[in-house]
Formats: sequence, C-alpha cells, structure tokens
Amino acid sequence: MTLSPTDRSTIRRAKERAASNRSALYEVLDRNLVCHLGVIVDGAPRVLPTGYARAGDTLFIHGSSGARSLRTDDQVCVTVTELNGIVYARSVFHFSVNYASAVIHGVPETLAGQRKLDALRVITEHLAPGSWEHARRPDKKELAQTTVLALSLEEAAVKIRTGDPKDEDSDLELPTWAGVLPIEQAFAAPLPSADLNTGIPIPGHVTARTATTPAR
Ligand SMILES: Cc1cc2nc3c(=O)[nH]c(=O)nc-3n(C[C@H](O)[C@H](O)[C@H](O)COP(=O)(O)OP(=O)(O)OC[C@H]3O[C@@H](n4cnc5c(N)ncnc54)[C@H](O)[C@@H]3O)c2cc1C
Repeated sequence: MTLSPTDRSTIRRAKERAASNRSALYEVLDRNLVCHLGVIVDGAPRVLPTGYARAGDTLFIHGSSGARSLRTDDQVCVTVTELNGIVYARSVFHFSVNYASAVIHGVPETLAGQRKLDALRVITEHLAPGSWEHARRPDKKELAQTTVLALSLEEAAVKIRTGDPKDEDSDLELPTWAGVLPIEQAFAAPLPSADLNTGIPIPGHVTARTATTPAR
C-alpha cells in the first residue's frame, strides 16, 4: 500500500513499514521542523537541510532568493526524518533505529504575491506558533530577498519503524543485551536575547512550549 500511486513513491524494501494512510504523512510533517531538500544543481545532486511547513496537501519551503537550491522548476525530492530510538540487537546485523520518515517527490512552484505571503505565515506559524501576530511582518525588500516554493504532497511515501530488534531465533539465547534506547526532544526554558530591551516579558506563545511540547 502506498500514499500515492506512482512507481517511485512505492516503498519496496521492508514494505510492512510503509504507511498507507495520508494522515500518517500529515502527522510526520506536522511533528517535525526540518526537511532535506534534494535538487540537481549543475548536473549533480545537492541535498540541503531547511525548514518547511504544510498546509493541506502542499509543502512550503523558503529561503534566500540567491539560493541555487531554490531556483528550480525541475524535479526535487524532500525528506523529513524523525529518529525515535536506537535498536540494540543480539547481532550487529540486526541493529536498527526506530523512526518515522517521509519522502516527497515532485516539481515545486515558485510563489508570488499573496500566495507567497500566506505561505510565509504558514512557515512562521509552524516553526514558532503565535509569531506572525507578535513579530513585524516582512516588508517589500525582505519579500524580494525571499523565495518560497510550494510542493504538492500528491506523490509521497511514509515509512515507520517501531518496537524491538528483529533477531534471529538462533541468537535469542545469547547473553547479549537487546532492546531500544528511546530518543526524546523537548523545548527547554527560553533564553531572552542579550540585547532585549528591559520590561519585555516572555510571551505566552513562547513559554507555553517549554518542556511540554516536543520538537524535532
Ligand atoms: C533514520 C533512518 C535511518 C535509516 N538507516 C538505514 C540504514 O542504515 N540502512 C538501510 O538500508 N536503510 C536505512 N533506513 C531506511 C532507508 O531510508 C530506506 O528505506 C532503505 O534503505 C530502502 O532503500 P531502497 O532504495 O531499497 O528503497 P525503496 O523501498 O526501493 O524506495 C522506493 C521509494 O520508497 C520511498 N521510501 C524509501 N525509503 C523511505 C523512507 N525511509 N521513508 C519514506 N519513504 C521512503 C521513496 O519514495 C522511494 O523512492 C533508514 C531510515 C531512516 C528514517
């Protein structure tokens, strides 16, 4: 089962880990903050980490208008990786990791005008909810310095591994520890900027995220 019907987005290896539900894609994208954008630049692959956000069935990516990786109307591949644990097995062959990951294939569209501004709001609110209202919005010059790409989520795959190591039956009696070392990430206490004017409290939309909200 796949999220999309194309050949290249069909998970073949360990296909029991493939998610078949589109909501799994939304969940992975909405839980995480960083993607890797793979593009071909001058005939060679280039894969760069960058922020993103999702609205409906569209992924938004932004950056400097000078960025070569964003100057594309060709095929791209975007991945989002969530590392949830190290899986210790009884044999090194079966060591693994628990994860959820998404791969999106497609040709992005460069946004302009109101659609570009709307996408920047979505990106800002995904990274730092409440900030579009709180902070100054981009002016004309800043907008000109920013490229925003929209990529359809039509052609995508999600793969999820959970649980114990998959050891050989013949290894189960070995005196070797096996199990999972979970990985967790959380926001810590906010650190006010050293040049912050006095009397500006930490806003609620920032303090609300401390400790309780996982981020990746
Ligand atoms: C954190 C992490 C660590 C990993 N470490 C290893 C490792 O060390 N060795 C290893 O062999 N594999 C590892 N994987 C799995 C790896 O991503 C591939 O799924 C696997 O290597 C199979 O590759 P393939 O070319 O045979 O994929 P295929 O199944 O042939 O890929 C076909 C299509 O399936 C989709 N797809 C493939 N992999 C993924 C994925 N992970 N998430 C979402 N969609 C996917 C893509 O659309 C791809 O074009 C890791 C995955 C994660 C998330």
